Amino acid sequence: MFQLTKEQHKLQQQAKELSDSHVKSRAAEVDKSEEYPWDTVERLTQAGFMGMTIPKEYGGRGLSYFDTVLVIEQMARNCGVTARIVVEANMGGVGAIMGYGSDEQKKLAASLVLKGDKPAICITEPNAGSAATEMTTVALRQGDNYIINGEKHWITGGGVSKLHLIFARVIEEGVDQGIGGFIAIRGETEGLIVGEREYAMGLRGIPETQLLFKDMVIPVKRVIQLPQGFKGGFGALMSAYNAQRVGAATVAHGIAQGAYERALDFVKSREQFGRPIAEFQGIQWMIADMATGLAASQALIYKAALSGASGYPDKNAAAQAKIFAADNAIAVTNSALQVHGAVGYGRSLPMERMARDARMFTIGGGTAQMLRNQVAGSVLKMKTPQTRDGYLKLQSKE
Ligand SMILES: Cc1cc2nc3c(=O)[nH]c(=O)nc-3n(C[C@H](O)[C@H](O)[C@H](O)COP(=O)(O)OP(=O)(O)OC[C@H]3O[C@@H](n4cnc5c(N)ncnc54)[C@H](O)[C@@H]3O)c2cc1C
Repeated sequence: MFQLTKEQHKLQQQAKELSDSHVKSRAAEVDKSEEYPWDTVERLTQAGFMGMTIPKEYGGRGLSYFDTVLVIEQMARNCGVTARIVVEANMGGVGAIMGYGSDEQKKLAASLVLKGDKPAICITEPNAGSAATEMTTVALRQGDNYIINGEKHWITGGGVSKLHLIFARVIEEGVDQGIGGFIAIRGETEGLIVGEREYAMGLRGIPETQLLFKDMVIPVKRVIQLPQGFKGGFGALMSAYNAQRVGAATVAHGIAQGAYERALDFVKSREQFGRPIAEFQGIQWMIADMATGLAASQALIYKAALSGASGYPDKNAAAQAKIFAADNAIAVTNSALQVHGAVGYGRSLPMERMARDARMFTIGGGTAQMLRNQVAGSVLKMKTPQTRDGYLKLQSKE
């Protein structure tokens, strides 16, 4: 159904080689040390996997989200952290700037990402998670600048990323204008402070941190200006996030694929009762379920990556891919661990790491519940406001 071109086969092979040679041997240490894998980032940069979606005119390779998915899949088979770096260096923040930024902003983003920077996308706040539009980080217009104050948390790459795409509520002349996107550079933008690290269950090689903005000054030229203004602009900016969602789904899928491959090898070699355990039907059915789930999640991801007329994947296709791939990755990594018995539970094999890493994807980047809300609203063709007054407003119109 999904025919790869000669170039895509080559790209996939190139990614597989890097993943199986370097990434695989580093994954356990990256998990243990919880340190960002700068050596891997250097190799990703040399291989042209950082910023591969950046258009050729800005020095990138002009590759598609589907091409990127092929690379992410290969990295995730061995290391979820590496795969997430590839997602963020090609999708979310980069995608938004390449789609909506000014020429100068695109040049700035390209100059950083093509040298190995993994941008951070900063939306979530302590009191605004799923309810992202309730964010209270405020950008006040002062002459040719915006002064931003507020706090984000669970920001992937806090303290390692240079380029930041920060979402804040814009206030001009005392009036709330909606949510805007602001570009800040760590080390250059004053008032951008990396806060405490948030230690996670899995995917430990990328820091998640708080970010604090204390009178952070962002010149107007670093604000993403959308034709519809700040009011309608948040939705447009978030459409770039659909690519990030497909990327996250691919990481989940790739981790599960890696766990499945290890399970296949193990069940053929491990003998009990004088036979390889692969001969037991109880094991065979687990393998069949894993294979079926993986085929389905890959199909949803590929479909989503190829969808969308706006330059970004379709919102619902991306949500469906992430809903399914995330649940499936939890199930597959769990089964893969199970068929290994005690050694699967042990730390000498990657099975427990893969199960921990896979657990993230029903939470980060839109929870499993919020994405289901979105898909339900779409298939039922119903507005599904989540706030109490949203329902009241809807009822009063009916
Ligand atoms: C590893 C990791 C990396 C992350 N990276 C980033 C990042 O780089 N940038 C960024 O901005 N954010 C990031 N996040 C934050 C992430 O996007 C949020 O965690 C997510 O949006 C959920 O918000 P919350 O954690 O506040 O949960 P809450 O919104 O408080 O939700 C708690 C629970 O309630 C459920 N729930 C809430 N509202 C509803 C509803 N209306 N209907 C049904 N169920 C509901 C949720 O599904 C969830 O199960 C990251 C999170 C993690 C775990």
